[in-house]
Amino acid sequence: MKNSTIIIVGGGASGIMAALSAKNHNNRVIILEKNNRIGKKILVTGNGRCNYTNSLLTENDYNNPDFVKVVYSHFGYFQTIDFFESIGILPKIENEGKAFPLSEQASSFLDVFLYEIIKREIEIKLEFNVKQIKKKSEYFYVIGANGETVKADKVILSTGGKAMPLTGSDGSGYEIAESFGHKLTNIFPALVKLRLDFPYLKHLSGVKINSQVDLISNEQLIQSEYGDILFTNYGISGPTILELSRKANSLLLEGKNVELRVVLIQSVSKAKLIDRFFSNPNKSIEQSLIGLVNKKFINVLVKESNIEKNSILIKDIDKSKILKLVNLLFDLRIKVIGSLNFEEAQITAGGVNLNDVNSKTLESKLIPGLFFAGEILDVDGRCGGFNLQWAWSSGYQAGKYASMD
Ligand SMILES: Cc1cc2nc3c(=O)[nH]c(=O)nc-3n(C[C@H](O)[C@H](O)[C@H](O)COP(=O)(O)OP(=O)(O)OC[C@H]3O[C@@H](n4cnc5c(N)ncnc54)[C@H](O)[C@@H]3O)c2cc1C
Repeated sequence: MKNSTIIIVGGGASGIMAALSAKNHNNRVIILEKNNRIGKKILVTGNGRCNYTNSLLTENDYNNPDFVKVVYSHFGYFQTIDFFESIGILPKIENEGKAFPLSEQASSFLDVFLYEIIKREIEIKLEFNVKQIKKKSEYFYVIGANGETVKADKVILSTGGKAMPLTGSDGSGYEIAESFGHKLTNIFPALVKLRLDFPYLKHLSGVKINSQVDLISNEQLIQSEYGDILFTNYGISGPTILELSRKANSLLLEGKNVELRVVLIQSVSKAKLIDRFFSNPNKSIEQSLIGLVNKKFINVLVKESNIEKNSILIKDIDKSKILKLVNLLFDLRIKVIGSLNFEEAQITAGGVNLNDVNSKTLESKLIPGLFFAGEILDVDGRCGGFNLQWAWSSGYQAGKYASMD
C-alpha cells in the first residue's frame, strides 16, 4: 500500500519485531510506547541474559498448539535464528535447548533494535499511552492519554498482557481489543510462585531441595516436573514450580482441588527404606531420617505421621506410623491455594480469543486492518525461551501482513 501508515501500539518484543517486519520504502511505521523507552521487559528476561528462543521448541510447548503451529510454519525457530543473525545477534545454545545471545546481555537486543529502527526510518513516540482506538470508514484514530491522536491505515496491538506491570504491560490493550468486539479468555498469572496451605512453611522457609514435584487434582496426575524447589514463608518457588503454575492456577479457577506431591526420595526403594528403619530399632526416628532428607523436613515428617516426638526410638513407635512416614517420603501432599499476583508473574495466561484472529496473518476477523502480536493473544508457553519466540513470530507475521495491501 503506497504511503500507508501502520501504528504499532506497544514497543515490547512483539511490537518491535512487528515494526521491523512491517517497514518498507512505501510506508510509515510508528511505534507508540507508553514508557520513556522501548523494550523495558526485554532487559529483565533470562535474568538479564535474554533466553530468546529454544532449539527444541514445538507447538506442544504452548497452550494453543494448533494456532501456534500455523504461525511457526511461516516464521519459527530457524527463521528467528536467521533473522537475529542478520541483525547481529548470534546464538549460544545451552541446556534444554535454551538460546541466549553470545554476548549474554539482554541489552544487546535493544542495541541492535535501535540501530535497525534508525536505519529503517521507523518512528517512535515515547510516553504515548494509548487510551482508545476508533475506526471511522477505513481509518483508525489512535488516541493517547493527553488527547493526541494519530491516524493510521493499519494498527497492530502489541501491548502485552498484565505480567510485571512495572515494565508497562498493565492490561490496557485488552480493553482496546474488547472495544472492537473481541472476546477475552480467562486471564491469570503464569510462570509464577505458588501459595500453599501447609502449616510448616515458616519452619521450612529457605529450604531448597532438588526433587520431583507432581501436580495432582482429584487424585489425577496432571503434570510432573523435576528440579530445584525453594520453600518460602508463603509457599513455594523455583523453576519446577513455575512450570506447574499455569495448570495449577487454571484448575483453581475452575474450582478444582489442587495439590503438589513432593517426592523427597527418588533413588531408594520403599522396601530398602523400611528395612533401614526396622533394622536399627534402637535409633531415634530423628537419627534414622538424618542423611535421607534435609534436616528441616524431619519435624514435618514426624508430625505428619503422628509420631509423638523426634527423640522416640524406632522400637517404641507403632509400625503403622513408620510405614506412614515412609510413604510420606514418596508422597508428601501439600495443598495449593493460589499464586503470587501479576507483579510477580513472568507471563499472562489467557488473552484475546484466537477464534476471532487469523492464524496466518494475525489480523482480526472482526475488524479489517487490526492486527495482534505477542502476549495480548491467548498464547502462552513454557519457561525456556518459548514466550519470546511467540513474541518474535507473531510480531513478524503481523508486521508482514499489515504492510501488505
Ligand atoms: C522477569 C521476566 C523474565 C522473563 N524471561 C523470559 C525469557 O528469558 N524468555 C522468554 O521467552 N520469555 C521471558 N519472559 C516473558 C517475555 O518477556 C514476554 O512473554 C514477552 O516480553 C512478551 O512480549 P510482548 O511484546 O507481547 O509484551 P511486552 O514485552 O510486555 O511489551 C508490551 C509493551 O506495550 C507497552 N504498552 C502497554 N500498554 C500500552 C498502551 N496502552 N499504550 C502504549 N504502550 C503500551 C508496554 O509499555 C510494553 O512496552 C519473561 C518475563 C518476565 C516478566
